[in-house]
Amino acid sequence: MFTTDDIRKEFPILAQQVHGKPLVYLDNAATTQKPQCVIDAISEVYTTYNANVHRGVHHLSQVATEAMESARTTVQQFIGAEQRHEIIFTRGTTESINLVASSFGETFLKSGDEVIISALEHHSNIVPWQLLRDRIGIELRIIPLTEECSLDLEAYRRVFNERTKLVSVAHVSNVLGITNPIKEIIDIAHSHDVPVLIDGAQSTPHIKVDVKELDADFFALSGHKVYAPTGIGVLYGKEKWLEAMRPYHGGGEMIKSVRFEKTTYNELPYKFEAGTPDYTGIIALGKALEWVNSIGIEKIAAHEHALTRYAVEQLQRIEKMRIFGNPDGAAVSFLIGDIHPADIGTILDHLGIAVRTGHHCAQPLMDYLGIPGTVRASFAAYNTKEEVDILIKGIQRAVKMFG
Ligand code: PLP
Repeated sequence: MFTTDDIRKEFPILAQQVHGKPLVYLDNAATTQKPQCVIDAISEVYTTYNANVHRGVHHLSQVATEAMESARTTVQQFIGAEQRHEIIFTRGTTESINLVASSFGETFLKSGDEVIISALEHHSNIVPWQLLRDRIGIELRIIPLTEECSLDLEAYRRVFNERTKLVSVAHVSNVLGITNPIKEIIDIAHSHDVPVLIDGAQSTPHIKVDVKELDADFFALSGHKVYAPTGIGVLYGKEKWLEAMRPYHGGGEMIKSVRFEKTTYNELPYKFEAGTPDYTGIIALGKALEWVNSIGIEKIAAHEHALTRYAVEQLQRIEKMRIFGNPDGAAVSFLIGDIHPADIGTILDHLGIAVRTGHHCAQPLMDYLGIPGTVRASFAAYNTKEEVDILIKGIQRAVKMFG
């Protein structure tokens, strides 16, 4: 049985002061802090067994390869994938979505075909499709939001037609902190024989993900949002799609044989892992997921939901408070009267409180809401109710100064 105090002790960065105040880190949707075991895993690679993976007959290379491939199994089990080779390592959610846009897009889509995304997507689930639109002439269809800021499923049902070839939506909104009804979204798409890519950047750290149960065709995640280092991420893809898709990047490791006339490609997952992989990051990602497992994702989720609910209750007591959407996860976005979000963020920073302000890489959502940006507080396993109280006091101070 772990307490939040026990958990906090595992994160050395949290013990510091910022501007003379204890750090209150509430920017977890942007990136989480790392437990000592993850930091140690990186150090252990470089101090004991660093060697390039897959190609070596020598001892260190074999140890490194084994550690990397064992991390693949950890990821597979963490997200409930049926097969190890359906786990492709990428640099993060952004690269995973770009991989699908390029590789699935250029294998299966042609001019006039349609991809459905939603009004609340992160730029990384918008721009790759626009680039594909520029390259091959696809159309983008956008699921609008209801007045309560949830996805308008009726409008979603209506948008399908014979040209619809893919749906790509966020599991959890990074701005609103709401969880989309992803199973329903997938089932509706599948009833039209249309595959679905889920942007799991904000769900993986907070929700038990089971890609098999969801029947997801693709699932993208970022390691750094789930206590792992930056620069490592995952694309899950159903074998039948990955087998049929053309490779994304060309280079070493993704080939079986190379001749100037013709190259044949490696089997999955290596077909999509050109070049030396970030094996250190992969090993540390495996360690981070083991760490989450040691606490229990359900327990982490319950703790974060309780913090979010408490934060919402307290925020609602502040005059002229506008909370966007009905957050049910680990993040809450708000504005107060006419006070600019950056002003609130700056005051909070002086009090040692880290929140994110701005458009959160979701400018179309900001336009839709008719606002320039929000203040976002987002929670992780190590945050406490006391930190929410400090946040609220800090906001009250900002309101006094600017309100
Ligand atoms: N999708 C969502 C919903 C996000 O919140 C983020 C990052 O904030 C991304 C995609 C992009 O993730 P990354 O920058 O790790 O690739």
